[in-house]
Amino acid sequence: MNTTAAPNRFSHLLATRPWLLADGATGSNLFDMGLVSGDAPELWNEEHPDRIAHLHQGFVDAGADIVLTNTFGGTRYRLKLHQAQDRVHELNVKAAGIARGVADAAGRPVAVAGSIGPTGEIMEPIGSLSAEDAQAAFAEQARALAEGGVDVLWIETMSSREEVEAAVAGAATVGLPIVVTVSFDTNGRTMMGLSAHDLAQIEQASPHKLAACGTNCGVGASEVVACIRNLAEAAGPDVVLVAKGNCGIPQFVGGSICYNGTPELMALYARMAFDAGARIIGGCCGTSPKHLAAMHQALLTHTRQASPSLEQIESQLGDVSTGAKAQWSGQQSREAGAAPGANLQRGSGRRRAAAGGDKLPPNA
Ligand SMILES: [Zn+2]
Repeated sequence: MNTTAAPNRFSHLLATRPWLLADGATGSNLFDMGLVSGDAPELWNEEHPDRIAHLHQGFVDAGADIVLTNTFGGTRYRLKLHQAQDRVHELNVKAAGIARGVADAAGRPVAVAGSIGPTGEIMEPIGSLSAEDAQAAFAEQARALAEGGVDVLWIETMSSREEVEAAVAGAATVGLPIVVTVSFDTNGRTMMGLSAHDLAQIEQASPHKLAACGTNCGVGASEVVACIRNLAEAAGPDVVLVAKGNCGIPQFVGGSICYNGTPELMALYARMAFDAGARIIGGCCGTSPKHLAAMHQALLTHTRQASPSLEQIESQLGDVSTGAKAQWSGQQSREAGAAPGANLQRGSGRRRAAAGGDKLPPNA
């Protein structure tokens, strides 16, 4: 009897393909399906599983190799905002099952990634959440996602080193591959100050080997490509990089947030992200199945070219921040590329507002 376990779907895809297409947005697409601002998207796993399956199906039909579960806010800390802190297990198992069902019916290998977002709490020493408590919360979510059948744990939209480390430690308790992406949304850094160079160091120092790392969300396709190039420079060729950028720039239109990226822009972005060093490419906020289909087509008909220059990125995709440009030219200090008079101490009031969750999109 052959007792060899089947290879992990995600690891197998990664080992056998030059690039993988990850899916697009969860939160912004659920808004289009009727989710109301302030609602917990995770509750829809229970209330509207058909709509979640429909979203996954749209991305699978558009060519996605990886779909992310609707569990971005699925830790007990985020669910507590909706009095659902005791439903971590139920909601995460359910979400994983919905994605698993769609993936397994795809007729080709599609990996399910268990989305794990920030707790929304500030960690010690600046805030009050201890590393132990954070790790336990991430482990609780990771166990439920694994039980529901995910292939990989996908830690995303992270901002602080402490929270990345706690999330990885929590995720590592279940033994699945782990991916970490951070959001470079503040002049080439995360809100809590991490640069691409810092992320490469975190990856290298991690006691649990990461399957991939990279960036998601952020402030536009051009910035994501520049950050991927900076990350590739810092991490070297052996680290698998993830680019999951927003569909252009967020804009307020009639009281709601819209993203200005066209399918054509996202197709260009996909190719440039690949050339810059990303092997897993997808979209974040604003990216619909239509955008993803254009990205898929662009990658299918593309052969790798030299990493794009700053000029190419800016002329084809849009502006790159002065901070990311400074890192590009090798200046890794926070002062480099900062606006004149910028507060380099990053006041704790801003951190608190930023990490409180209410200003952030409800899902990546
Ligand atoms: Zn996003």
